[in-house]
Amino acid sequence: MNLYSVEEKDYSGKRVFMRVDFNVPIKEGKVVDDTRIKASLPTIKYLLEKGASLILASHLGRPKGKVVPEMSLKVVAERLQELLGKEVKFVPDCIGDEVKKAVENLQKGEVLLLENLRFHKEEEEGDENFAKELASYGDAYVNDAFGTCHRKHASVYTIAKFCEDVAAGFLIKKEVEVLTKLLTDPEKPFLLILGGAKVIDKIGIIKNLLDKVDTIITGGVMAYTFIRAKNWEIGDSKIEEEAIPLAKEIIREINKRHLEFHTPLDHIITNKVSEDAHYFPTERGTIPLGWIGVDIGPQAIEEYVDCINRAKTIFWNGPMGIYEIKPFAKGTLEIAKAIANTDAFSVVGGGDSVAAVNEAGVADKISHICTGGGASLEFLSKGTLPGIEILQKK
Ligand code: ADP
Ligand code: MG
Repeated sequence: MNLYSVEEKDYSGKRVFMRVDFNVPIKEGKVVDDTRIKASLPTIKYLLEKGASLILASHLGRPKGKVVPEMSLKVVAERLQELLGKEVKFVPDCIGDEVKKAVENLQKGEVLLLENLRFHKEEEEGDENFAKELASYGDAYVNDAFGTCHRKHASVYTIAKFCEDVAAGFLIKKEVEVLTKLLTDPEKPFLLILGGAKVIDKIGIIKNLLDKVDTIITGGVMAYTFIRAKNWEIGDSKIEEEAIPLAKEIIREINKRHLEFHTPLDHIITNKVSEDAHYFPTERGTIPLGWIGVDIGPQAIEEYVDCINRAKTIFWNGPMGIYEIKPFAKGTLEIAKAIANTDAFSVVGGGDSVAAVNEAGVADKISHICTGGGASLEFLSKGTLPGIEILQKK
């Protein structure tokens, strides 16, 4: 994929409007995890070194078009200032006269962060006038917010209509490079690990990846939906009913292609989803009525670790169980450790999946951690994203 890149452009003396992903967790007015801010630093520093001034814009949370003080980016400006070791100016809106004035006063080498884009509903609507105003602040546009590139929002998609000079930052370039490699030239066998809860959102990517992957292993609500599609008993385990027709179709396609496909051989079941619940492994893959599957069982772990050890390329999205509850986290943590222990090229995407990898303490042993869960899945399924398309060389 041939994207316009910041390295091939001249930013000296230019104002750059840069879309970043500063959607970080905030508790009691403090940034509790600054991974995303740190991830944008290489591009920010590079542009400043090249003589640009920067207007940074991001969303934070889901304020739904209204001003929500707890979702203000002001605390992010403070954290960025510490990380960058230089002043970061802040304006309490992202469009309007005050912003215009701050932009006009911005000197070479200075950084200005705008307030949460989603305080205006026009951002998520992809509104043209809103995008045009954002575009007017910069002589050039740079996007480094991979996690939002699957959305046709004003600051990641519509804005391109009003910018002549567009480019991808280093973060987007890296994500696209890694995911494109997975799609076009994966070393075989290619193992896809799918778990988690958002089955409807995700099951479509399996269909689109059937021609690429050799082995699929499943856990979580995803697995229970497939098991149900095979008409096996899953007791009171959580499934997404609407996904069953597609699950059935995928099973047929998998059989046609003779792919290796696994649902868990056994499960950890409980009758109450809580820390102090009774729980135990099942003997087989079915779950009696009144019981809930909350993790993959010991036999499943053994089988999945074997699949992981045979793989040369691995993509993982979605925990194997309710990993937030300690007694039900084992399957997910064992999978994370097994991936870390192989030499396979491994990519993990998705908020909860990445959190689990961090909890297992193996993040540095994963080849690539995707900053965007939904965005990485959609990229794998479609080969591109709206926000990436606009950065492509024509
Ligand atoms: P990601 O954030 O990595 O994309 P998801 O958001 O799709 O993953 O799924 C993560 C959620 O799935 C977690 O909150 C976890 O508790 C839940 N989950 C996993 N297995 C089960 C299960 N068997 N029953 C209910 N919820 C589950
Ligand atoms: Mg999640």
